[in-house]
Amino acid sequence: MTQSLDISHAANADRASCVKENLAGIGFDALKKTLEDRGIEPKKVNMRARQLWRWVYHYGVRDFSGMTDIAKAQRAEFEDWFELKRPEITEALVSVDGTRKWLIEYGPNTEAETVFIPDVGRAGALCVSSQVGCTLNCSFCHTGTQKLVRNLTAAEIVRQVMVARDALEEWPTSNENRKLTNIVFMGMGEPLYNLDNVAEAIDTISHNEGISFGRRRITVSTAGVAPLIPELGRRTNAMLAISLHATNDDLRNELVPINKKYPLKELFEAIREYPDLGNSKKVTFEYVMLKGVNDSVAEAKDLLRLLRGTPAKINLIPFNPWPGSQYECSDWETIENFAEVLNRAGYSSPIRTPRGRDILAACGQLRSESVKQKASDRRKAELAAKTAAEGTAAE
Ligand code: SAH
Repeated sequence: MTQSLDISHAANADRASCVKENLAGIGFDALKKTLEDRGIEPKKVNMRARQLWRWVYHYGVRDFSGMTDIAKAQRAEFEDWFELKRPEITEALVSVDGTRKWLIEYGPNTEAETVFIPDVGRAGALCVSSQVGCTLNCSFCHTGTQKLVRNLTAAEIVRQVMVARDALEEWPTSNENRKLTNIVFMGMGEPLYNLDNVAEAIDTISHNEGISFGRRRITVSTAGVAPLIPELGRRTNAMLAISLHATNDDLRNELVPINKKYPLKELFEAIREYPDLGNSKKVTFEYVMLKGVNDSVAEAKDLLRLLRGTPAKINLIPFNPWPGSQYECSDWETIENFAEVLNRAGYSSPIRTPRGRDILAACGQLRSESVKQKASDRRKAELAAKTAAEGTAAE
């Protein structure tokens, strides 16, 4: 499902036999390049790219027939070369609380999830995945129990936003009454291990003649790939979130093993180099509440010490259990006491209400279950198909 195409071949070969290039998800520079490669007159390339861009990302069209400001002959040519295809959605679920989850297929055995969480902040947030699977093995995260399958391409990341806007009927782009207002890279994967594609995707979704998300409404969460944190800021201007979860190296090594590579001291040095931090641009620290592990008042105070000097807000996440997990969620009272210490010190520290638990869409619950289930279903289906085929052949 990448936008791969052998362009040199496409330009010469019989058009009908060519694979069409999918423009849904493409970046602006790549769009210009592909138009150039197709032989569009150089002086018209920019204009054509802007026209197409608007149709694809402002109006969200899925075919070329409605592109009324493009002459028919040119439209026909575009239709021969290109398509505007959405990814295959293998599962679309709606939670009792309105959370929506899409399981998207990126190829055989390659699926990742996108989750829309309504009523967060001014309106709704979309939690996008940057990788299929993950390499980090955080001990409390269900996604971490899966091996990395692969990085998602920039186009595949952008298409997650397009799928959500299709379902929410948010085309054409409007700046008023949007249901989807924020994008958070808090789905599957570690965004900083796929920074090139994440940065390109952010350029596309923030482009003001298209989907037009302000960069302040895009948050990238990392488990702490310290050397890439300042670079993330320079390249994307997005908001930064850190999955912290512990206030000392010993515990963090256990919960977030990447801490062994980039311990707290190094992590905080990198965070402080994130560009433009201040009162209007704070770092969000995510802290999952694990019963008896990291939830004491003493740890809340340690957290205050650790955050001193860093413009910060804290997001307390009640642990979402998953089958086989070794942790339990802290008691509500413990979470409130923890929050109280932070609030009294002047920190905004909302407790994140678990959303979409019934459809396994909550933090750290992403994908694994459904995929494991799907893999076994698939095997069953394959077996059934094989048996049926053998039966047919025998008749
Ligand atoms: N790899 C990146 C992006 C994933 S964000 C990162 O770690 O930041 C996913 C967020 O959900 C992280 O803050 C993660 O720590 C949190 N999370 C993972 N498993 C969880 C669980 N079972 N319950 C609650 N939060 C969880």
